[in-house]
Amino acid sequence: MHSDTNNTTADSRYDAVALLSGGLDSILAVKVIQDQGLRVKCLHFVAPFFGKPHKRKHWEALYGIDIENVDISEEYVRLLTERPVYGFGKVLNPCVDCKILMMRKASELMHHYGAKFIISGEVLGQRPMSQRQDTLNVIRRDAEVKEVLLRPLCAKHLDPTEVELSGLVDRERLLGIKGRGRSEQLALAKHYGFAEIPTPGGGCKLAEKENARRYWPILKFSPKPSVRDFKLSNIGRQYWAEDRWMIVGRNHMDNSALLKVCGDADLVFRLRGFPGPIAVGRQFDGKPWTQDEIADAAALAASFSPKAVQSGKPVMVRVVAAANLRRLAEQGGEHAPVEGEVVFTVEPKRVTDKGWSESDWPTVREEIRADMRDKRA
Ligand code: SF4
Repeated sequence: MHSDTNNTTADSRYDAVALLSGGLDSILAVKVIQDQGLRVKCLHFVAPFFGKPHKRKHWEALYGIDIENVDISEEYVRLLTERPVYGFGKVLNPCVDCKILMMRKASELMHHYGAKFIISGEVLGQRPMSQRQDTLNVIRRDAEVKEVLLRPLCAKHLDPTEVELSGLVDRERLLGIKGRGRSEQLALAKHYGFAEIPTPGGGCKLAEKENARRYWPILKFSPKPSVRDFKLSNIGRQYWAEDRWMIVGRNHMDNSALLKVCGDADLVFRLRGFPGPIAVGRQFDGKPWTQDEIADAAALAASFSPKAVQSGKPVMVRVVAAANLRRLAEQGGEHAPVEGEVVFTVEPKRVTDKGWSESDWPTVREEIRADMRDKRA
């Protein structure tokens, strides 16, 4: 786990740590506790699927809270690779396991900060899967936070927690919000004078079909799914031919991101003589591409240059391992020949022998269901 605050000293004590998605409910839960004069450290969890670490300072100033970004990418990728114990929600969102993972991390950090309890912004009955009473109990139990978890927004509907019984937290000043309505939360946001009202949830890509179809092939084909795999799958257009994976930039921003995120052994495809996107062929460990496969992928990469296609002639595509390009960039010799670069002359083609295609959600949904059935069997 990586966190962005390493300067905590023994005397920087907090009463509570809070799970802060950046959604309205998570912020309100913190404010309700701060109102009682208690000190709260907010934990903003970050992974390739969620988190807005760049907003930390903005939120701190806007809402008067104290935040630490906590990177849980490695643990999260492991969770997806091993498959969630409580399954996926409507898309590829393992909400119950996700909450358990976050609660466990929060529990660790609670001790680190010398805090006595954990706050979360859940409201009973608000979300179908993760906020039902029985599910809330499962999360509390499996994360082993039963004694220390306080949900200030719906506490009046739950049994008193240790910190309420001990008098550290005044139960009378906690809330009893229930259900899907938003009016009470909006009234509270007004009461606190928020200049910006965040959206209800924190925004999670695992709950979006468009992103789930990008992620699923990794879980299916990558021999050892990695954080890098999921970061790459967030960029550009994604093409698969069985376990061969090509990522094609859609614009300048994608091209730069691809070069930054791809692994040293990944293949970078660049057109010679025509403007066109950068494409990356992901080389999984122990699965190098054949020359035939590279030539086929080069034809696909070239098809994304309208000028190359319009030329009606074979075009040249330069292919090199990312490590060699990086080495050259470090030496400041961008225009010098790149060591190990091979030039392929190909006809630009969107439909090639290898059958590259983008995943579609209905197929992916069926595969996820079948995978979950197999795992349960
Ligand atoms: S929506 Fe995403 S971040 Fe939220 S609980 Fe579900 S999996 Fe976790």
